[in-house]
Parts: sequence; C-alpha cells; structure tokens
Amino acid sequence: MTIQPIIIAPDPRLKTKSFLVEHIDESIKELVQDMFDTMYYERGIGLAAVQIGVHKRVLVADVTWREADNKEAVSGEQHVLINPEIIHDSADSQSYKEGCLSFPDQFAEVVRPSGVRVKYMDLEGVHHEKDFDGLLATCIQHEIDHLNGITFVDHISHVKRDMINRKLTKLKKAGMFDHDHVHGEHCNHG
Ligand SMILES: [Zn+2]
Repeated sequence: MTIQPIIIAPDPRLKTKSFLVEHIDESIKELVQDMFDTMYYERGIGLAAVQIGVHKRVLVADVTWREADNKEAVSGEQHVLINPEIIHDSADSQSYKEGCLSFPDQFAEVVRPSGVRVKYMDLEGVHHEKDFDGLLATCIQHEIDHLNGITFVDHISHVKRDMINRKLTKLKKAGMFDHDHVHGEHCNHG
C-alpha cells in the first residue's frame, strides 16, 4: 500500500496531456493500486494518474465506498479505465458541485452530459464499451478531462477560476500542502 503525494493546482503538470498506455505490465498494476490507495486515503471518488505525477491515460473511480467505524475506507464498486475515450454523450445534462483532490477544499457547480458511453481497456487488457450515468458519469468525465490536461475549473467562469487559483497559490506559498493532511468529509472529490 503506497499513498502518493497529490499534485496541487496551479501546476503545469496538471495541464499536460497524458500518453496512451501501450501494454499493461506490472508497473501499470502497481500504479492502479497506488491510485486506489491514494484516492481512499484522501477521501476521493476518482483519480487520474496525472494527479500523482504519472502522465499515463489511467483513471480509477469508486463512488460507492464507505467509511467503516474505525475510519478506514471500505471499497465499493471499483472502476479502472485505461485509455478511456468518450464515444457518445447524452443530450441531457446534469450539474454537480464538483471538487478535486488537486484543488483542496474548492468546489464549483459544473454542468456535463448526464450520461456517457466510454470505450476503454481494463486491467486485464480487455476492451469495453460501457454506459455510465449519474455521479459516476460526472466523475469519469472529470477524470478523462485530467488525462487531457483539463481540470474542473476550466468549466467555470474565469472570475471564479482566477479566485480559486489565487487562493491555492497563496496557500501553497504558506506551505499549507507540504505535509500530509487528511481531508474532511468531502464526497465529491475527483
Ligand atoms: Zn480532479
């Protein structure tokens, strides 16, 4: 179990596109394990590899995990999407108050298609085409954005985006994110 440090915005690494995974080897399996460990530790519901500094097109999601009495995260339905690609958007949209582990304690309403069909490969190298809806659809779109160097603040007004970036820059300068800290009760992090 390895918890990796999360890259906090603003950071040029979060604006860089990730590379396709050519083949699945031990390093990808370890990466996915680290991503789940880090995501649960930070109380997120999704994570893209780029957020722990690995520019590979890998994302993990679990929107149904729960906290046990001993405060440990108990996994729900785990999703691993390698080289994901949205091949269909639903016509209708939905809005969620999104957060992101790379933007600690910052939230904003983001409107996205309420359903998506995604083509991807799983950890065994099997290809899938699957429909996602609800919170999972939002989460997966948020994480696929990360793989393309896009973050949730790119979907909101520039006034709000500048405000969030200024706030985080200030907190970074103050050394706020230099040490591990456990986040509170945020359930819409990705
Ligand atoms: Zn995110």
